Amino acid sequence: RWNDIWLAGKTDSAPGTLFDKIIAGEIPASVVKEDDHLLAFKDINPMAPAHILVIPKDRSGLTNLRQASAEHTDILGRLLIAAGEIAKDTELGFGDGARIVINDGSDGGQEVMHLHVHVLGGRKLEVRYI
Ligand code: ADP
Repeated sequence: RWNDIWLAGKTDSAPGTLFDKIIAGEIPASVVKEDDHLLAFKDINPMAPAHILVIPKDRSGLTNLRQASAEHTDILGRLLIAAGEIAKDTELGFGDGARIVINDGSDGGQEVMHLHVHVLGGRKLEVRYI
């Protein structure tokens, strides 16, 4: 997986994934939550009746979770707390529970190389991981 790590490193220093453009307001998104550290918006291609993405505004070292280290403790906590808050927001369509997912790297199904947390719900989801 060294090549994967190398590629991920290259992505990190590259200017702008799609999500950077959303953060910059260059691509419109349906934002549901925002603060200095993170942004949450509706997934454009929802896989469940409610599907929100939560992303760090600064992806430095956070192309994906496998690159995270102790310096990211604060932002990782913020992302999960925000995901939990979103998951109980009935106005966003969530009911009694949700599924919180991180697709990490190519084999994990990650397509946008900017760490993001999927919050899925709005109906009873089957227990399925793959
Ligand atoms: P996957 O597409 O396999 O779920 P990711 O985990 O990288 O891969 O998720 C990227 C997510 O970003 C997808 O769910 C996709 O629908 C979403 N997405 C792509 N473009 C936009 C956009 N412009 N606005 C909102 N969500 C987007």
